[in-house]
Amino acid sequence: MLELRPSCEGCSKSLPPNATDAMICTYTYTFCGVCALTTLRNVCPNCGGNFQHRPIRTRAQLVKHPARVERIPVSIDETAHASFFERYRDTPAAER
Ligand SMILES: [Zn+2]
Ligand SMILES: [Zn+2]
Repeated sequence: MLELRPSCEGCSKSLPPNATDAMICTYTYTFCGVCALTTLRNVCPNCGGNFQHRPIRTRAQLVKHPARVERIPVSIDETAHASFFERYRDTPAAER
């Protein structure tokens, strides 16, 4: 099950389960659309992968499987991101 993290790990913007601008990488590191696509240019600073929009979870399902409450501290490892970006900037996501 996807972990629905409550906030952007780049700028702390709240990203509730119905947010349409929440984006995740394969490990569910979670960023807002601006951080994921503009700041990070679609390269995850934690794994080098790309981002996709996070699907919403319906209110009915949230009763059974609630979103995570504790926020993730804001932290982008600039050095790691620079390294991944250098490696993958010209590589389509499917070929990374
Ligand atoms: Zn953000
Ligand atoms: Zn990642």
